[in-house]
Amino acid sequence: MFLTVLSCFVLKAGSFSPANCDSVNQRFLQCLDNHSNPSYPISTVVYTPNNSSYSSVLQAYIRNLRFNESTTPKPQLIITALHESHIQSAIVCAKQYGLEMKIRSGGHDFEGISYWSVVPFFILDMFNFRSINVSIADETAWVQVGATLGEVYYRIAEKSNTHGFPAGVCPTVGVGGHFSGGGYGNMMRKYGLTVDNIVDARLIDVQGRLLNRESMGEDLFWAITGGGASSYGVVLAYKIKLVVVPAMVTVFQVNVTLQQNATNIVYRWQQVAYKLDEDIFIRLTMDVVNVSSTSTEKTIRASFLSLFLGDSKRPLSHEPRLP
Ligand SMILES: Cc1cc2nc3c(=O)[nH]c(=O)nc-3n(C[C@H](O)[C@H](O)[C@H](O)COP(=O)(O)OP(=O)(O)OC[C@H]3O[C@@H](n4cnc5c(N)ncnc54)[C@H](O)[C@@H]3O)c2cc1C
Repeated sequence: MFLTVLSCFVLKAGSFSPANCDSVNQRFLQCLDNHSNPSYPISTVVYTPNNSSYSSVLQAYIRNLRFNESTTPKPQLIITALHESHIQSAIVCAKQYGLEMKIRSGGHDFEGISYWSVVPFFILDMFNFRSINVSIADETAWVQVGATLGEVYYRIAEKSNTHGFPAGVCPTVGVGGHFSGGGYGNMMRKYGLTVDNIVDARLIDVQGRLLNRESMGEDLFWAITGGGASSYGVVLAYKIKLVVVPAMVTVFQVNVTLQQNATNIVYRWQQVAYKLDEDIFIRLTMDVVNVSSTSTEKTIRASFLSLFLGDSKRPLSHEPRLP
């Protein structure tokens, strides 16, 4: 039995009166309890607003602070799943009680859709599912969704300095949203998107069934490797194919302002970037900066950030020329 009791919530279908509110809340919690594995009681990973850790658990993976306001709708509860049965319970009971379930892995969704909603909801938080098992022998790794990209890169590098994985540039982005949505990064010119390098997955579907690529079928596997998985189920882990990288790579960043001919260089970059040797990737970002350290006059700065899969002495093919 749960010791905590949910505050009164409104289901999609309408409001509960105070008279029946508690019993409905308790039935929802009881439902979770009934569907979890007795060896892994779900009550230990449920946080309601009455729990002193509720706010810190909620905020830990709010990565867009615009959605961390007092006016931002809050979840009725947060389930920090530790075991598959917790996820299965959450799915079954969310359906039974019509409560929207938000799945959150790294919390980097730009619109915060993994942790707020306009209808009553709860969060299924996946940050505890973050193991990474790298096999250099067959050049693959099983990566759980709560891991961050930085953790994936780190665990691969621990085992090999000639393997990597083509995914995003921000190390705190979560595997769950990134891998299910596509994923582009510094090695995409040579190795494609993240999803081009995913070979298997483990998913719990809307019926609460645990599936892998073979049992889910190619259509569903295709959907959760680019289509955004939350429409289809809860992904637990992805199996990825590692790629070969040189032991020594080169990174550089070049910043130029309008006064330093940025307009022409950006124009030229657009003409040549896609024609260069596929071992080099040059990303462009632009921002507004002061003209100098002693002036508050503003200008636009173009920053070219690059990864070259080779050491700095390795020549690039000569054409086209870099600006
Ligand atoms: C600072 C920053 C840098 C970024 N850099 C890059 C980059 O270099 N390259 C790039 O391609 N993208 C980049 N992105 C975009 C990022 O890849 C997406 O926002 C991605 O969806 C974030 O994944 P997440 O797990 O951190 O987010 P979350 O907010 O946890 O989830 C995002 C979406 O995926 C769903 N979801 C999460 N986990 C699961 C799961 N286990 N099962 C089913 N559905 C799930 C959520 O419900 C939500 O709809 C960046 C974003 C930010 C904020």
